[in-house]
Amino acid sequence: MKILDFKDAAQLIEDEFLQITKDIIEINLSESTGQTLAEDIYADVNIPAFDNSSMDGYAIIFSEGKKSWNITGEIPAGNFKDYALDVNSAVRIMTGGRIPTNTNAVIPIEDVIEEGSMLLLRGGIEIKQNQNIRYKGEDLKSGLAALSRNTVLKAQNIALAGACGRIKLKVYQKLTMGVLATGDELVDITADPGEDKVRATNLYSQLSQVKEINMNPLDLGIVKDDKDLLMSSISSALKSDLDILITSGGVSVGKYDYLKDIFNEAGVECVFWRVNVKPGKPLFFGKYVKGDKTKLIFGLPGNPVSSFVSFTLFIKPVVLKFYGREDFNSHFAILTTPIKKMDTKRHFIRGRLKLDDGSKKYYVSLSGSQSSGNLAGLSNSNCLIVIPEEMINPATGEEVECIMI
Ligand code: AMP
Ligand code: MG
Repeated sequence: MKILDFKDAAQLIEDEFLQITKDIIEINLSESTGQTLAEDIYADVNIPAFDNSSMDGYAIIFSEGKKSWNITGEIPAGNFKDYALDVNSAVRIMTGGRIPTNTNAVIPIEDVIEEGSMLLLRGGIEIKQNQNIRYKGEDLKSGLAALSRNTVLKAQNIALAGACGRIKLKVYQKLTMGVLATGDELVDITADPGEDKVRATNLYSQLSQVKEINMNPLDLGIVKDDKDLLMSSISSALKSDLDILITSGGVSVGKYDYLKDIFNEAGVECVFWRVNVKPGKPLFFGKYVKGDKTKLIFGLPGNPVSSFVSFTLFIKPVVLKFYGREDFNSHFAILTTPIKKMDTKRHFIRGRLKLDDGSKKYYVSLSGSQSSGNLAGLSNSNCLIVIPEEMINPATGEEVECIMI
């Protein structure tokens, strides 16, 4: 099977994601942070609902050149009482209080002096008509669109949905992503690895990556490199209602790398196997179609850095895009060390990106050994430095793209 270029592989994954239908569910506003709206939301009332003061101060009827008034009443927020004012009178008003009929300016408390029942304007202060009044509907008129479908809800959007009286919202259901670790050498992280075992860290890193993209993680545990055990785990995962299956290990060319055969026997159609990247070359991507439902299958390589990088490159961006999120960010930065790269693969190098305070430019250095098993180096990095296929041995000072992780 042909080894694909990075871009072709990413495109094939995106094409398959577009075939998936996202279910729509209704949730409480208080649980909607990070969810993607599946409906447009309209204002059910004028926002604000009435003309009100934006300052603690005094409501008056504007009259050019006037500098003193009689205080004739008080309006705290939420406790409106109308007053019949004339140009000589003022009403004390609090922020958010409804302004009395006919008044058309609020003088802030800082701009006046109260002397008994008299209100005197401080020297040098100018008043303008309509100042410090928030007019009914000026934020949003009743019936107009407040939030549109595909908005990824953040606190500021949730405030607006709340102002529209929406305690329930329709959002796209998160995908359930099952994570399975495979390998005879794997033990639970609570176990002592002893002389020849390995703690199954991938299980936790991929579950965490699923959480980071705000999807539902499902822990499918560890399975040994045994065809029957693998077959039973994979087929029960395929029969379950998960949307995406992510395995790690067992997809390379080793004698006990059975997963490709197992996927095939279990009815998974291979879309591609192997991509011209480093790390992560043995990536398997397939689909399992049952009736009108398609599950996508990612067989990530076992090396902890490879599985992390493969998820970052091939799963994260497409899921974020699919759910309307725009926070897959990269920066261009200047290399502070040369990088040895002789082949025509696309490399993703663990790096540490920093903004230089003086020049306001980004610089990136390598974070430790680039071995695909190096967890400490990975943990110490905050980006993946992209060295494209055609770039050979980039030198210090060259500009490179860095994908933030
Ligand atoms: P494989 O892709 O199965 O050949 O595994 C490649 C390397 O990754 C081996 O050194 C494995 O021990 C290691 N490995 C595989 N799965 C995991 C895992 N879940 N957690 C940590 N290391 C793993
Ligand atoms: Mg293995």
